[in-house]
Amino acid sequence: MKAAIFHSPLNITTESVDKPSASPDGILIRVRACGVCGSDLHMYKLGLFTDFLCRQTDAGRIPGHEFCGDVVAVGEQVKGLAVGDKVVAYAMGGMAEYVPVAPAWLGMNVYRVPDSIPYKIAATLEPLANSVHAVLKGSPAKDEIAMVFGAGIIGLGVIQCLQALDIGLKKVIAVDVSDKRLAVAKELGADDTINASTDDVAARALQLAGPVPMGMGITTAVPAVDIVYDCVGLIVDRPEPPVIQQAINIVRPGTGRVVVHGVFEAPVTLELSSFVGKQTQLIGSYGGSPEDTVKSLELLEREAVDREIIISHEFPLDQAKEAFDAQMGVESSVKVMINP
Ligand SMILES: [Zn+2]
Repeated sequence: MKAAIFHSPLNITTESVDKPSASPDGILIRVRACGVCGSDLHMYKLGLFTDFLCRQTDAGRIPGHEFCGDVVAVGEQVKGLAVGDKVVAYAMGGMAEYVPVAPAWLGMNVYRVPDSIPYKIAATLEPLANSVHAVLKGSPAKDEIAMVFGAGIIGLGVIQCLQALDIGLKKVIAVDVSDKRLAVAKELGADDTINASTDDVAARALQLAGPVPMGMGITTAVPAVDIVYDCVGLIVDRPEPPVIQQAINIVRPGTGRVVVHGVFEAPVTLELSSFVGKQTQLIGSYGGSPEDTVKSLELLEREAVDREIIISHEFPLDQAKEAFDAQMGVESSVKVMINP
């Protein structure tokens, strides 16, 4: 079969490798669509996280963890899955014609997908479950103001979920460095956008959210932003201060929450006086639970979120390298899909 192999930074090739088979406790999936994830880019650029992001084979490391396909073989110990099922599986190695998943547990790491959801849309289920997870971690409530840093697939999903889950927020503000991505954010329901490479983010946030007193006898006002979602983490070659620092500075005192779902390419140094003074809740968020996944599937099925608009590029598996290069271009890409 054909598979993308990650060799070293910026070096991915498509090669012919042995076709895997289903183990007694596993299934084999014929992959039809696999997204290039933001975390895959940390690997592609810097060689980070390869153990988490790839299926290790004798032929090398096969990336890809956001995929949908059809079950073509089922081990005798597997319950509830059959050949022909359209599924999303939480596993590595999806940038290949076939991927084995073992052990395969329906409802835990394998989810059956209704025929009405196209492969490439279903391939965005895993990141959507991440977005749902992040959203819920922030406990958003009616009439609150949320700010979302990073209009990549996770941040855009956060914006979509904040709308689709009918929370009744007063305002959602999206921040990114790409006008293309900010335009998509707006289309998906962001009320306002801030370009962090050209605007003063804190000043704009103050304008857009309105001021609240800092308290503690300090006269400066801070933006009335109740929740900041950091869907960026730290990208080492960006000139802006770390988003987590901006978030801590911006969020309102007392009840403010900062949810961090981004990935950090390097350690960060933080100024934490305002974090302590404002008694901010800093919340880590990772992955998506089975409950988040079921909720996300339901959102896809009733078309409560538009994932089509997020997919900016599609490539055949032979052009895996081109797909990664396209995903690197934040000005031109949103989500890049590989169709093996
Ligand atoms: Zn991912």
